[in-house]
Amino acid sequence: MDDRQFRNAMGKFATGVTVVATGAAGEVHGMTANAFMSVSLHPKLVVISIAEKAQMLEKIKKSGCFSVNILAADQQELSMIFAGQTKSQQEVVFERLEGIPVLPGAIAQITCEVSAEYVEGDHTLFIGRVTHLHLEDSDPLIYFSGKYRRLAIE
Ligand code: FAD
Repeated sequence: MDDRQFRNAMGKFATGVTVVATGAAGEVHGMTANAFMSVSLHPKLVVISIAEKAQMLEKIKKSGCFSVNILAADQQELSMIFAGQTKSQQEVVFERLEGIPVLPGAIAQITCEVSAEYVEGDHTLFIGRVTHLHLEDSDPLIYFSGKYRRLAIE
């Protein structure tokens, strides 16, 4: 099986899009990620998967915390900025939720403390214990087969 075929197969799983953010020493680092899921209700746990080559890896290890910001339909540009696909024309302003940087306008801001990490192949899985949540009522940005999509309104 070649890498392209594997990536194409994984791309058939339609997902939302998140920006994972963390901050150490006042600096905020963000990264676009769609490898995110809920793990447990009691206790409340989520998981993200971060590539070994991503700068985000060391930043989360250092801070011990992160936020997952589920992007709204009108935040495609932020997804592209935090995936390194386009440059921001102006500074991206983060807010803080109980001290952890979060992205304004996200439909969900989920702050976490790292409760475990597992190196698997070329990624590290971070299990996050959810500490706080903030929700907004708007439509999500969707990612499918390597392209951004919107929910169809029935
Ligand atoms: P960099 O490449 O240095 O940073 C990413 C970009 O964010 C840079 O352009 C940087 O300038 C900008 N940036 C960071 N912080 C700030 C700030 N405070 N203000 C303004 N700009 C800032 N990779 C994974 O490991 N796991 C995934 O689940 C995953 N899912 C993805 C889903 C999608 C839809 C896409 C498009 C990409 C995904 N990626 C994923 C790839 C990942 O987003 C990129 O490889 C990313 O560039 C890696 O970021 P980095 O931490 O190495 O930092």
